[in-house]
Formats: sequence, structure tokens, C-alpha cells
Amino acid sequence: YRVKRAGGGHTAFQHQEDQRTSLQVERLTALHRALERDELQLYFQPVVFAESRAVVGHEALLRWLRPSGIVSPLDFVPLAESSGLIVPIGRWVMRQAVNAVKTRRLQLVSVNVSALEIRQPDFTSHLRWVLEDSGIDPKRLVLELTESSLLEPRFAPLLHEVHKMGVWTALDDFGNGYSSLTAMTSLPVQVLKIDRSFTIDIGKDIPGAARALEVVRGIVTLANAYGLPTVAEGVETTEQADLLTEVGCAYLQGYLFGRPKPLF
Ligand code: C2E
Ligand code: MG
Ligand code: MG
Ligand code: MG
Repeated sequence: YRVKRAGGGHTAFQHQEDQRTSLQVERLTALHRALERDELQLYFQPVVFAESRAVVGHEALLRWLRPSGIVSPLDFVPLAESSGLIVPIGRWVMRQAVNAVKTRRLQLVSVNVSALEIRQPDFTSHLRWVLEDSGIDPKRLVLELTESSLLEPRFAPLLHEVHKMGVWTALDDFGNGYSSLTAMTSLPVQVLKIDRSFTIDIGKDIPGAARALEVVRGIVTLANAYGLPTVAEGVETTEQADLLTEVGCAYLQGYLFGRPKPLF
């Protein structure tokens, strides 16, 4: 676990490190129990068609309901990913999301899938089983994947297989981090989600606002040239919604149209 350096005692630094590690272990144990004790819940946020502002689907977003309060996925998904716990959690998410389509009659549900999940050799067979078991039309399901997980060429056949099953895939958080044109132009995905970091400046009385809009216009134009409709994330004002519609974003998502919340 940790090899003590020869001659070195227990330094203050090492003590801090050990404390951090035991905190992580505690949190991981708690997260493990959360899955068994039904402390995880899916919230759903609407996605609207830009032209009409009609709801066309929902993104499923995970929450951990602890006795002490609601924990954001930003605070536990990374731990779940590094520990591998995201695999059983992701399977739970998939079943819940598909079930919501069935029982709540959602038109479309979008599910976030981590890199580690799609790396499981039985990812597609599990997906196929969940779909068959529920009986929903696979066209009602969208898998949101990020570039970091998809850029390995070996994922292209997997994406094709998912597409053949009838399930849509979306490239999530486009423009955040290591985005490349290669991702947009070479991956067999059907939707491009433009990261909130672009939307945030649009329609504001700040120096970068006009440029942010032009960048989004460029992304949308290019995406459309490759036959990909776009979803703008993080839309909070009507000014943003109108400008994004004007530059050709097909779909919009953000607090303006609804925050993530339980379905009932
Ligand atoms: P994401 O997939 O990019 O999801 C969008 C995030 O933006 C959500 O944060 C959503 O609540 C937030 N958001 C939506 N509209 C607005 C807005 O108008 N303003 C602002 N400020 N924020 C907005 P959330 O729910 O905290 O999720 C964070 C990230 O956690 C997600 O980013 C996704 O990467 C990950 N995540 C969530 N649920 C799951 C899951 O079931 N599985 C996996 N693997 N990851 C998940
Ligand atoms: Mg997402
Ligand atoms: Mg996103
Ligand atoms: Mg994002």
C-alpha cells in the first residue's frame, strides 16, 4: 500500500496523505452502500426543440441522496470511475432511465456513459438485454459519451453496433478540453452537444460575448455539414436561447427550460 522510505519516519505530509486515503475509502464504502440502499436517484432535465421550444426529451442526471443532503455527480462520479463502481452504478442508471421511458412515457431519454462502462466487454450485450427486457423502442434512448472515451479507434465498431441496435449516441461536452475536429468528423455519433462553457458568455454585456456566439455558429455550421444536429447546454436566458436558435442549434437545454428534477 505505501512503502516507507528507508530511514524516513512518518512525515506530516505522509500523515495527511494517509488521512486523505482513509477519507476516500470511507466515501467509497458509503457510495457502495448507497447503491444497495437505494440512495441514488435519477433526476431528469428537459431538452427542447429550438424552433418551437417544445420538449423533445430528457437527460438523466444522477444524484446521491444522503441523509446530510444531495450530493452532485461532480463530487462522486470521479470516485466511482476510479474505483470501478461506475460499472454497476451505470447499469442501474441504464435500467432506471429505460424504465422511465416506459412508465413515464418519456419520448427520449439521454444517459451519460463513462469511458470505463463502454470498455466493459459485455457493454453492448448488457444494453441489448436491458432494451429487450423493457421492450422500449431503442430509438428512444441516447447515450452521451465524451471525447476522451471515444477517441480510441477501437470504439468505432462499438458505436456502429450500438447504432445498428437503433440507439442514438451523442458527443457530450464538445469544445471542453481536448476537442478535436477528428472527433466530430470521424466518430459514428449522431448528435453533438456543445459545452456549457460556450453558452455561458453568449447574450451577455461582456467583451467575449460576440466571439462566443461566432464560435458556436462555426461549430454548428461544421456539425451540420457532417449531418450532426447540435444541442446547446446550459441555456439560462431567453437572449441565449434566441441567439443559439438563430445560429442554427437544433436543440436547447438549460435552466431556462427546466432544472434537473425527479419525475414525480
Ligand atoms: P453533463 O452530462 O454535461 O450534464 C450537464 C450538467 O449541466 C448537469 O450537471 C446539469 O445539471 C448542468 N446544467 C444543465 N443546465 C444548466 C444551466 O442552465 N446552468 C448550469 N449552471 N448548469 C446546467 P450535473 O447534474 O451536476 O452533472 C454533472 C456531470 O456529471 C454531467 O455533465 C455528467 O458528466 C456527469 N453525470 C451525471 N449523471 C451521470 C450518470 O448517470 N453517469 C455518468 N457516468 N455521469 C453522470
Ligand atoms: Mg450529458
Ligand atoms: Mg454535457
Ligand atoms: Mg457539460
